[in-house]
Amino acid sequence: MNTRPPAWEADVLPVWTNSASQNWGFLSKNDNSITEFSNSITKNRNYLADVQKDPNFKKWLYDNKHPLYAKSIWNKSGQAVELIFTDRFVIQPNDRIKQEQLRVMGNLCRFHDIKYDSNLHQEFTLWLKKKEIKWGGNKRINMYRLAKQMSLNEVISSIRKFPEKYKTFSLFVLVSGLRTEEAITVYNNHDKICQNNLMEIFWDRNTKKTNAIFCHPLLHSIISGYVNKSGIKKNMKASILGCELRYLRKLNYTQNATKIDGHLAEFMQGRTGNISQRHYFLPLMENNRRKWNQIWKKIIVKCLK
Ligand SMILES: [Zn+2]
Repeated sequence: MNTRPPAWEADVLPVWTNSASQNWGFLSKNDNSITEFSNSITKNRNYLADVQKDPNFKKWLYDNKHPLYAKSIWNKSGQAVELIFTDRFVIQPNDRIKQEQLRVMGNLCRFHDIKYDSNLHQEFTLWLKKKEIKWGGNKRINMYRLAKQMSLNEVISSIRKFPEKYKTFSLFVLVSGLRTEEAITVYNNHDKICQNNLMEIFWDRNTKKTNAIFCHPLLHSIISGYVNKSGIKKNMKASILGCELRYLRKLNYTQNATKIDGHLAEFMQGRTGNISQRHYFLPLMENNRRKWNQIWKKIIVKCLK
């Protein structure tokens, strides 16, 4: 599309000529290549700063990612541009923040590669390797460990410990399989959205992304009031639940995929599907409604009794 000179070709290739001995005498070839390397990094960072302001980058994100994910990447891209390829980023602790920044950086590089036919993403992953920065921080590793160890029954007995309102909400998160932020929106608008125990959600006008979930009759009758992030944080501590709230989404997927249908499980979680596909998925859902009700009834009853 565009013909920007690729920095990695011009500068990353180390200059192994004997220019050092000819011109400077005291420079080793390593010194020379380090200078070249840091020059190219500066250029790459300048290029990425352009991407960060590029409205097409925003459009690409919203066209290809979940709207919430796209929004978060777009909002954090300014900070990521400042940190990419820096020592400051290297020494940052490998926590969730760093992992988020890594995702933003990855997206910036990908878009640059698509637009300019470059290899920035490869450069980026090579740099991560060199600096021993790993995708997947400690928290994530813990979560995967938890995913293996925490059984559905353990989660159920944890949910039982929550105050009534949050018991209902955590069950809603578990049964709907929605991302926490989506679950909050849908829960708070339940009366408007729920029609015959079916909730169709249209997340984004542009991407036409949609998903549909069943509202379980046992939950339908007890959903009331509103929840917000700070209340959730205060009342639904991971230390009580035994895992992060978003782990419930994994459990939901496992139940629906193994007991009903993998493809349907993805649609109900909003991982796949748009407006044109809903005519395929909705009848499929209806065919499985009774089965779905049965599977989740057992789980809900265990939590509420
Ligand atoms: Zn309902």
